[in-house]
Amino acid sequence: MHYYSLNNKAPQVTFDTAVIKGIAPDKGLYFPERIPTLPTQFWETIEELSKEEIAYQVMQPYVGDTMDETTLKEIVADVLSFDFPIVPITNHIGALELFHGPTMAFKDVGARFMARCLGHFLKKQNQQEEVTVLVATSGDTGGAVARGFYKVPGIKVVILYPSGKVSDVQERQLTTLGENITALEVDGTFDDCQAMVKRAFLDTDITSIKQLTSANSINVARWLPQSLYYLFAYKELKKQGKADKIVFSVPSGNFGNICAGMVAHLMGMPVHHFVASVNSNTTIPRFMKTGDYSPTPTVPTISNAMDVSDPSNFVRVLQLFENSRQLLSTKFSSYSYCDNATRGAMLDIYKEHNYTADPHGAVGYLGLKEYLKDHPDAHGIFLETAHPIKFLPAVEPVVGPLALPEQIKELMNAQKDALAISDYQELKNHLLK
Ligand SMILES: *Cc1c(COP(=O)(O)O)cnc(C)c1O
Repeated sequence: MHYYSLNNKAPQVTFDTAVIKGIAPDKGLYFPERIPTLPTQFWETIEELSKEEIAYQVMQPYVGDTMDETTLKEIVADVLSFDFPIVPITNHIGALELFHGPTMAFKDVGARFMARCLGHFLKKQNQQEEVTVLVATSGDTGGAVARGFYKVPGIKVVILYPSGKVSDVQERQLTTLGENITALEVDGTFDDCQAMVKRAFLDTDITSIKQLTSANSINVARWLPQSLYYLFAYKELKKQGKADKIVFSVPSGNFGNICAGMVAHLMGMPVHHFVASVNSNTTIPRFMKTGDYSPTPTVPTISNAMDVSDPSNFVRVLQLFENSRQLLSTKFSSYSYCDNATRGAMLDIYKEHNYTADPHGAVGYLGLKEYLKDHPDAHGIFLETAHPIKFLPAVEPVVGPLALPEQIKELMNAQKDALAISDYQELKNHLLK
């Protein structure tokens, strides 16, 4: 399998290079040269396959011959060592819980897969030089990346987060690991963090002596394994005899997760429709309505992992549908909800169905309900992308206090260790140290 740049001005590469580089030299996103389809037999017998067997068959064509069978099997088994249950909400609606991993956000799978692939490729190349993973986070990415790359040999991780703007749990997940993970607490906003990271990637004083790579969802190793969630859900629904008309509603920010779901569909998985549910950052619903792609300044919301106005993976979504909005609209809709509607949904799900959703899942629930209005016979799944405990300041006022899950209890006694910085020069000094 080769990957080409969506800007079409860079040479094709294999999976290992795409993972190490992250982004193509022409600044385009890497994209697989084709979406492989899986044999009919795979779809017919999926109920009998384990998570690991499904994962191996799905990921193998993308990885190609850059990794031997044993290594890929070990990696997927290690990455997927927790559950992905569907919790029934009504007869026609289920919540696909993607938060049972170590940091309780769906980003664990992508981050862990990428970390293990990168670690493997660096070892194989016998690389002496350390690689620095540099990433800005508004909360969830940083925790999943920190945990995913924790103690991976040859890799150092530097995470920038906006001081006072991530939840207590998220901050602890970023700042308590130590070892090869450094947290930089930035006196500024998430946008400031992101701007500093971008500047570092372009700064030849740094890049001439340090190998930097990013760990956001533009990296193919973080993006593609997310297809697996949809296959696990399909397997479960097929077992229950509910696989004939599936609708997935995906709370979306950078659109990496939903794009991976659409990849699973193009690999042969029957899906009736995808709904991209967003908060008050409405670029994509507006684009679907008018054809005009015009990002406006980012609006802060209570579902802040989706506070993105120019989603980086949307070019990939379009590419899957021949860059045609018309064609895309046959399989994909996008709806937006403000914070008040999101709070209302959290309350509604709690009172009517005795389920506590996080703000992102609640946005997904709203989008699903909207689509099901006209398709009452469909089986709807909304993705619960994070445990509500991670967004406690938004959840608690609506549904009251939550019990601490095991993964979080341990964190509460750990010691915060972050380096406060306020400008680019301080980041640069740190990286050159
Ligand atoms: C990152 C994130 C999202 C958005 O996912 P994308 O792949 O960027 O669309 C949604 N919910 C939570 C909790 C997240 O952390």
